[in-house]
Amino acid sequence: MKQIRTRFAPSPTGYMHLGNLRTALYTWLYARNQKGIFILRVEDTDQKREVEGAVDIIYSSMKLAGLDWEEGPDVGGDYGPYIQSKRQDSYLPYAKELVESGHAYYCFCMKERLDGMREEMTAKGETFKYDKHCLSLSKEQVQERLDAGEEYVIRQNVPLEGSASFDDAIFGRIEVQNSDLDDAVLIKSDLMPTYNFANVVDDHSMDITHVMRGSEYLSSTPRYNLLYDAFGWEKPVYIHLSPVMANAQRKLSKRQGDPSFEDLLEQGFLIEAVINYIALLGWSPGTEQEMFTLEELKGAFSLEGLSKSPAIFDMQKLTWMNAEYIKKLNVKEFHDLILPYMKKVIDVDKFDTMYLAELLKQRCEVLPDIMEKIDFLEEMPEYSTDLYFHKRMKTNAETAKPVLQDMVNVLDALDTWTVEGIRSAVMGYIEKTEVKNGYVLWPLRVAISGKMSTPGGAYEITYLIGKEETIARLKKSISML
Ligand code: GLU
Repeated sequence: MKQIRTRFAPSPTGYMHLGNLRTALYTWLYARNQKGIFILRVEDTDQKREVEGAVDIIYSSMKLAGLDWEEGPDVGGDYGPYIQSKRQDSYLPYAKELVESGHAYYCFCMKERLDGMREEMTAKGETFKYDKHCLSLSKEQVQERLDAGEEYVIRQNVPLEGSASFDDAIFGRIEVQNSDLDDAVLIKSDLMPTYNFANVVDDHSMDITHVMRGSEYLSSTPRYNLLYDAFGWEKPVYIHLSPVMANAQRKLSKRQGDPSFEDLLEQGFLIEAVINYIALLGWSPGTEQEMFTLEELKGAFSLEGLSKSPAIFDMQKLTWMNAEYIKKLNVKEFHDLILPYMKKVIDVDKFDTMYLAELLKQRCEVLPDIMEKIDFLEEMPEYSTDLYFHKRMKTNAETAKPVLQDMVNVLDALDTWTVEGIRSAVMGYIEKTEVKNGYVLWPLRVAISGKMSTPGGAYEITYLIGKEETIARLKKSISML
């Protein structure tokens, strides 16, 4: 059997759109599942849209996602170059071959003529279609104008009759009437190919067996097949993917404020969680399993699990999944991931950050969440003494005062500052005074954190804050009562 060769062909836009990341992932998974070759091809023929550094962002996003490629601009391969702008010379000869065989033709129509036609047709409620005006030029006339250095494009010569079709692996048979197809430009006046041409030439030249891409290309694929037929080339298997939607009405779009892959990582989502979530946006394993490592996805992936219907990106679901991944990390891993966020709000040298990580791990959905949970460690926030009121604990500002005064003495007398040491000292006091735990612990926590909830309870945060600071905070809080 022929070796499977798939490709991911992003245009350098400067960020990794989540829909594109999903295309890359599925294409990669299919190649890995089928022991095939995965190729990275950069489609940069639209020079106007080029963004500085954008190609590097493609590499780095792919690497972060764990998607490796056997052939690509940076690693080379037998079918290079893998950047379209560097393949520029290969397209024109193919286009000329089509001109020779009558499947394409030179067009010298100026922008003014085309704009006029477009306006006229739009006014009539029709979609623009080039009128094959230049098809009637004789070979000699064409040569004369080329010799005179006139600007030109090369257009596909779509037959006026008949239809073009193909069978998509997901969407089934797609057929269009040739009369509905425009004579699309194949080579632009800057001699760069359009996507419409480059994708066909490149997929053929690179021996691509399976083309996986967004369903926005579904309707133009019949026209690509006319080109394959004109050349007499073997067609790839087409697998078009339904779009990733922001909601029922519109596609996910960075311009409308939806996050890219990089944005999600910046917002503190874990790469593994994003990949796992994205994998399930439009693909189902056919079982109840939801949590997949990339390795497991490789084994489980199949084209049969791909869905025809659009998938809706659900931030809540992703957030849930992220929390699940955080729970699975060990404390050290989690610690290292949140360290940069800790550094933003506390002086990490002053605190037992490993212990803090242990406390935070169970209740963290996305990494930056931890900042507002721990900033009180660095600096005692302003708070209202109303916080001492707790109905069930039977506490208020008045009951708090003597308890806090006693706490100063109890804690000041401690020599070794550990959570256990603090617990047994405070519990000793609670037993001696015969009050309920909360009667002491609630005001203690409020007095040193200014908060009603903290990572860990009174003992844990007393330990974290340290002896000297705890005593100072207690005294300050007493003076407010
Ligand atoms: N460069 C195209 C895009 O970014 C790729 C389409 C394809 O995979 O053929 O949408």
